[in-house]
Amino acid sequence: CSSDLVFEQIKLCKALTLNKRLFMKIAVVGTGYVGLVTGTCFAEMGNHVVCIDIDAHKVAQLKEGKVPIYEPELDMLFERNIKAGRLQFTTDLQAGIDAAEVVFLALPTPPGEDGSADLSYILGVAKQLGKIMRSYKVLVDKSTVPVGTAELVKAAVAEHATVPFAVVSNPEFLREGFAVSDFMKPDRVVIGCSDDKAAKIMESLYKPFVRQGNPIYFMDEKSAELTKYAANAFLATKITFMNEVANFCELVGADVDKVRIGIGSDSRIGKRFLFPGIGYGGSCFPKDVQALVKSGQDQNYDFQILQAVMAVNEDQKTILLPRIKNYFRGQLQGKKIAVWGLAFKPDTDDIREAPALYMIRALLAEGASICAYDPEAMLNVQAVLGEQITYAPDEYVALSGADALLICTEWGVFRNPNFVAMKDLMKDAVIFDGRNLYDLEEMSKQGFYYSSVGRQNIMRS
Ligand code: NAD
Repeated sequence: CSSDLVFEQIKLCKALTLNKRLFMKIAVVGTGYVGLVTGTCFAEMGNHVVCIDIDAHKVAQLKEGKVPIYEPELDMLFERNIKAGRLQFTTDLQAGIDAAEVVFLALPTPPGEDGSADLSYILGVAKQLGKIMRSYKVLVDKSTVPVGTAELVKAAVAEHATVPFAVVSNPEFLREGFAVSDFMKPDRVVIGCSDDKAAKIMESLYKPFVRQGNPIYFMDEKSAELTKYAANAFLATKITFMNEVANFCELVGADVDKVRIGIGSDSRIGKRFLFPGIGYGGSCFPKDVQALVKSGQDQNYDFQILQAVMAVNEDQKTILLPRIKNYFRGQLQGKKIAVWGLAFKPDTDDIREAPALYMIRALLAEGASICAYDPEAMLNVQAVLGEQITYAPDEYVALSGADALLICTEWGVFRNPNFVAMKDLMKDAVIFDGRNLYDLEEMSKQGFYYSSVGRQNIMRS
């Protein structure tokens, strides 16, 4: 009799286990840098994910197993989850969201004409969702959006919705170049939510990502929305502050590298985001700082620090131009400049607001010719600049016959080059380094004219 009981208990346990589905069905609307990483990482944790995009070409590529962006570590996870049948792609919003309990919105929020975040992508999809949802859904805003957007999304969905739903703000903090590791092991997860059921669903979705004890912060939607803008605005300010210190170092003969180390070891300041250079770019900092300033103006509040950050960064992007002009005695017509690095930062192919593009356009306007190399961003630049510049197959070919080299992105491959080969290839041994890659003593030894940011110029020996 007791063995019968044990047998029954085992049967019950098995049935419970089978019925208790731990994985979730997720849809991600917008399959760009954030959406594709989000979808792939949730699939990696065993969830079933459908990524939706209106770009039919992109979806066709994804269905063929091709990752349309460069992001370290993404390919392997992408492939594994497609093979396991946990990651799918479609252009059909209805088919994509039908089975999903949670729908992430990873849509663009580009700057509108007045600098505010353009919410038309998000509100357009929200309206559509209201019309087509056939069961309860948690709608999660992962895009970077101004305070109050969750309310606008709720209203847009509610206009036509016939089923219950919740709206959650879950800003994304991943960095391009580290997107997969940032998503898999986030410093923190921020969830803005005023609905208990949705909060529990979000918590169980993110629990596997914070097993080491990093926090999931629950807060109201507005605070979550502002947390993302405040984080990006702070980081942009930190970089810009250091750029101003670097500019001042040049005037007074100080070395910004020494100042950076000197202040960075103070734990209140920290070592990161203190490297000076030719300004910040990318798809986030410029537009997010601008959008926060605009949000302030809408409330009659003047974000004075951020106004200054924008102005300083604008100048910083082309700060090397007068120096290059000066070196060539004002005459850039016919000079051949090799450019190393086109992406807005290393380990990405993203060229949105890349300082390299500002420098290239300024140099072209002065009559210089450009031969460029970037490990991953060449095709994206070709789509924007076309035949205006030439593209080299590697960093050394770019140098052939160059009057000077300009470094715009700190890719690892540029850090330890063969200086002897470089000198042989270049017409003149001249480097303008917008990312401070090289040691001043080494450059002096190698016999280059070397001009960087916030440090003394090295004259050719
Ligand atoms: P992205 O431009 O790379 O991707 C957006 C995708 O949405 C594109 O593939 C586009 O085709 C698609 N799309 C546009 N309209 C659509 C629609 N109606 N239906 C379905 N798909 C549609 O943008 P991103 O860089 O992934 O950024 C998305 C959001 O995340 C932005 O708000 C951004 O500020 C924020 N964010 C970006 C990063 C980053 O590093 N890129 C980091 C954190 C937050």
